[in-house]
Amino acid sequence: MFEVRGLKFLSIYGLRLHTNRLRLGRLNLFAFALLSLLLITSCGQQDGNYSYTEEEGADSTEQIINIRYGLPADSFNIHTGTIKPNQFLADILLKYHVSYPEIDRLVKKAKETFDVRYMKSGRSYAVFCDKDSLGKAKCFIYEPNAEEYIVFDLRDSINVYKGVKPVEIRENVSYGTINSSLYQTLTDIGASPALAMEMADIYAWTIDFYRIQKGDNFKVIYTEKYVDGKRIGIHEIKACLFNHFGNDFYAFGFEQEGFKDYFDLEANSLRKAFLQSPLKFGRMTSSYTLKRFHPVQKRWKAHLGTDYAAPTGTPIMTTGDGIVIEARYKQYNGNYVKIKHNGTYTTQYLHMSKIANGIKPGVKVRQGQTIGYVGSTGLATGPHVCYRFWKNGSQVNHRAEKLPPSNPVKKENEAAFYEYIKPVQQRLDSIGDLKIPS
Ligand SMILES: [Zn+2]
Repeated sequence: MFEVRGLKFLSIYGLRLHTNRLRLGRLNLFAFALLSLLLITSCGQQDGNYSYTEEEGADSTEQIINIRYGLPADSFNIHTGTIKPNQFLADILLKYHVSYPEIDRLVKKAKETFDVRYMKSGRSYAVFCDKDSLGKAKCFIYEPNAEEYIVFDLRDSINVYKGVKPVEIRENVSYGTINSSLYQTLTDIGASPALAMEMADIYAWTIDFYRIQKGDNFKVIYTEKYVDGKRIGIHEIKACLFNHFGNDFYAFGFEQEGFKDYFDLEANSLRKAFLQSPLKFGRMTSSYTLKRFHPVQKRWKAHLGTDYAAPTGTPIMTTGDGIVIEARYKQYNGNYVKIKHNGTYTTQYLHMSKIANGIKPGVKVRQGQTIGYVGSTGLATGPHVCYRFWKNGSQVNHRAEKLPPSNPVKKENEAAFYEYIKPVQQRLDSIGDLKIPS
């Protein structure tokens, strides 16, 4: 766990940032916005469900007819609420004069779209009722999550379908100086802690977050998803600059052949064949050494691995792509998994509370995939993962190895890459110069 305190945070939403920036460099911003739009539409989200906050005014056609959940809201009396514990669909609909046989047909009809038994307490719903004196329900809408909704349409023939709310993408800028934990401070200042996770993902190969130090600082340009004006999550990090031990690490998101990756100023991938650590967050408790006093066996012996302590159940990731060659229990290792990455490298993960489902010899795994969970099975004093690394058949200290890099930007895309990052780098560099709005 790395900690940060007293972090300065700057968050400028959409228009405010744009008006400032437009004056500084309309062309740059336009190129950036265009690229953002390209990224947004190419990341598997449905077209038309995203609107980018580039325009100054709202879409005027939307204001003429009040549309909610794709329905003409003004034609109904609308009752909203949240599902209470042990409340079922029938409990709600009966109140609005829908008969049992109708509810029964509705539930049957809904099966292929949404199983009403999975309605969760705390989630929002809306009932669209007739405006007459009886006020019978015509549509029931359930929101299984912030983005999606299910419409149970009782008008004419019963119909059940899924809809997606418009997701707005807003750009944000944050920067800070590390005092103790990035994750904690982002939480404290009301920024999404998910941002720390995203940054840790991007820099998983280049920065050892277990050795993050006071005075390290970062600047990040990212987009967040908003539904109904509420922030629901990080969309993506566009670019980031992390200064670690006085060295600048730039990361620019760039897409090639539909696959997005992060690259540095020289178009080299930030990814490496191996992650720095098999845990996202944890504490290194014992490093690779040829001689240490064993806490359980009470004698001096070599420790040919690196221990990372974390709570029982914390996911353990494979540090590289490969094939599982062992996944079982042994007296000293406890539950463990061994992965062969190629002819040169093999890694092993010990003392798991549980090996992940489907992880068995012969199974292919992708870097970052969960292969098990932290525990203290075998010879261990407390919950931790002992990470072991082999190179050409002998155990080595992975933290001292120069690990092989991943592929750089393709030759044919290099010109486009350099063109793209030039203005983005300027923006990143200028972030600290902006005044914090009061
Ligand atoms: Zn160990």
